[in-house]
Amino acid sequence: MTTPLEGPEELHEYPAGPLTVQWRPARCQHSGRCVRALPLVFDPRRRPWIDGAAADPDSVALAVSRCPSGALQLAPR
Ligand code: SF4
Repeated sequence: MTTPLEGPEELHEYPAGPLTVQWRPARCQHSGRCVRALPLVFDPRRRPWIDGAAADPDSVALAVSRCPSGALQLAPR
């Protein structure tokens, strides 16, 4: 019996000033915390659903840091 190999985790990236917001959908718990914190940046009805230019980078970084699942992370651009 063979164990199927797992592929790479799906990752989406969105520019946010000097930063990149990374979102891993498989980890998202859909708590809506990011949407409530910054609804202009995180809008699940819009595509793309993250607009990192809709708030200052510090506010985006704070919202990302409060994601309970780790689905949202920051990386340098
Ligand atoms: S805060 Fe994190 S876990 Fe919650 S909806 Fe946003 S991305 Fe998903």
